[in-house]
Amino acid sequence: MQLKRLFAGAAVLAVAGTSFAASPLKGQPIGTAECFDYGKNMKSTTVNTVVNLFDGDPETFFATYEKAYTWGGLDLGQPHVITRIGWTARNIKNGERAVILGLFEGANSPDFSDAVPIAIVKDGQGDSVMNYIDVNVSRGFRYVRYVGPSGYRCQVAELEFYGEPGEGDDSRYYQLTNLPTVYVNTVNGEIPYDKEHEIPCTVTIISEDGKEVLSKSAGIRERGNASREFPKKPYRIKFEKKTSVLDAPAEAKKWTLLNNYGDKSLMRNILSFETAKMLGADYVPFCRAVDVVLNGEYKGCYQLCDQIDVRENRVDIDELTPEDNSGEALTGGYLCEIDGYADQEKVWFTTSRYFLPVSFKSPDEDDITPEQLNYIRDYFNEVERAFPSDNNPEPMGYPYRDVFDTPSFIRHMLTNEVAGNTDCYWSVYMIKRRNDPKLYTGPVWDFDLGYNNDWRVYPVTSRSGNSYLWDCGAASAAGNMRYLAQRVFLKDESTTAEILDIWREARRAGFSADWLLELIDRTAAELDESQTLNFKRWPILNEKVHMNAVAMGSYESEVEFVRSYIRGQIPHLDQVIGFDPYSDPILSGVAESAVAMVSWYVEGNLLHVDGDGEISLYTLDGRAVYNGPASTSITLPANGVYILRSGEKSWKILY
Ligand code: CA
Repeated sequence: MQLKRLFAGAAVLAVAGTSFAASPLKGQPIGTAECFDYGKNMKSTTVNTVVNLFDGDPETFFATYEKAYTWGGLDLGQPHVITRIGWTARNIKNGERAVILGLFEGANSPDFSDAVPIAIVKDGQGDSVMNYIDVNVSRGFRYVRYVGPSGYRCQVAELEFYGEPGEGDDSRYYQLTNLPTVYVNTVNGEIPYDKEHEIPCTVTIISEDGKEVLSKSAGIRERGNASREFPKKPYRIKFEKKTSVLDAPAEAKKWTLLNNYGDKSLMRNILSFETAKMLGADYVPFCRAVDVVLNGEYKGCYQLCDQIDVRENRVDIDELTPEDNSGEALTGGYLCEIDGYADQEKVWFTTSRYFLPVSFKSPDEDDITPEQLNYIRDYFNEVERAFPSDNNPEPMGYPYRDVFDTPSFIRHMLTNEVAGNTDCYWSVYMIKRRNDPKLYTGPVWDFDLGYNNDWRVYPVTSRSGNSYLWDCGAASAAGNMRYLAQRVFLKDESTTAEILDIWREARRAGFSADWLLELIDRTAAELDESQTLNFKRWPILNEKVHMNAVAMGSYESEVEFVRSYIRGQIPHLDQVIGFDPYSDPILSGVAESAVAMVSWYVEGNLLHVDGDGEISLYTLDGRAVYNGPASTSITLPANGVYILRSGEKSWKILY
């Protein structure tokens, strides 16, 4: 929906005809009572009050004492479907600036607990003129209001709402941008303030261009560790009942809203989660970019993600109950975190050999029994004893590979390696399944320090020798996690072959620098509308925040910074791992930009090829499907990736 600057009221109304009522709706002014008297420079309940919004005088204005979560609006007496909104900024220099990111809401509960957005002000439109926004929301509202942006006193000179009486329906809601809008309204307007206290709220998620609406009772609190120190807070939502959210595969109560404050590309987690999928990770958390509004205040572009917990379509292992204290039941499942922040948790332990601090995701620290805690602590110590040491190169008992799953550890490492993520060994999720002797690594999580975003190791790509995490030069690690990793990667030659196998498999399946660059472009395009609002709310593009090594000055430059890192990092990893895409029998030639001597397209299960000479078609594992003239149609035997070759040129075909 575009802002429209229109000329003086009467003429416009005549032109617009039946689309909205000829005069603004009347109602009872309602709003924040504590106002600000600029003359006396003090709090007031009689000067600059909400009635000034509706007195028809552009010189009188509303100004609240507080500068956040304040509002003014109308009780219309009965529901109205709103078709248009008008506002006039306060008549001072840059008065319109106080309105940018101001949000218009409709509700049917007088406390606005069921409020949904009907419009947001994206740009200033000049002072002291009436600005209009067309509204296309099908639901009728008795209560309508304007919520001022953070940092201003809700200063507006005039407000107008237009519409028709009616209950309306749920066919059309308003999304702030092309991304889904997550709308949180807390009871009594209380703001989440820590990780312990859950504030009751209603969460409304508007998606599919306003055609899908989910609205549920929930609780909200802050989450995270370092990321919680920023003014843009990360949150955890807990629905009262298990809920399916957007197109997430899991049905669950708990979901996270990642703030990405230090990640100005707003996409580092997205890139790494997709990388993990390409590397064959067992489970990768669901993640979707959204806009977040809390109590009418626009909070920015976030990522709505799975909470890391145990359930179907998340970490899918047996869930322990407090009764599971012996026998097979006691052997799992456990979802633990080797956790640099473990000492901030209620229940945690340190392992005996590598001093790994371990905290719990499942069973929850409130539910874990002493038997379960003892079991998993003993188990971690046993796994550690299976590793060779300098003093004891031949491990006592069984070799570590019997109790430690190296493929999942390597997939986790490689995902972090692609990102050059310094947090790789600061927080590592580990899984112990029931009746399974092995300790598994995963899921991957938290990449905001990756992609050259950490001044402590900047630039990661300048490091020579082995790759960055492989020889464990991580800037921070929980306990002696880096030494444990060294045992796997440096003191065990069979790991080298395993890394190459996993990397080759991913590269042959299409993972490449070009693939990542294409994902970056697609994601940047998807985030563009939202990032514009985000950096109006948080104007930090010229500022180093968190661990930023550089501040690039614009969103486009931040994205290009990530692109540039990727262009260097993938060839670097190929070299370190010992993979040459140009001599790989499957991939050779694919990396070159080929001038097509043949053209092709897929239709159903048929590959149609047109051209001169001979072609061959292979499956990804090198099996020939076709050898013969280039002008042909080939039946593709199964879904998968195929390589089409013509002389020195080849193309990857996804079917
Ligand atoms: Ca006024």
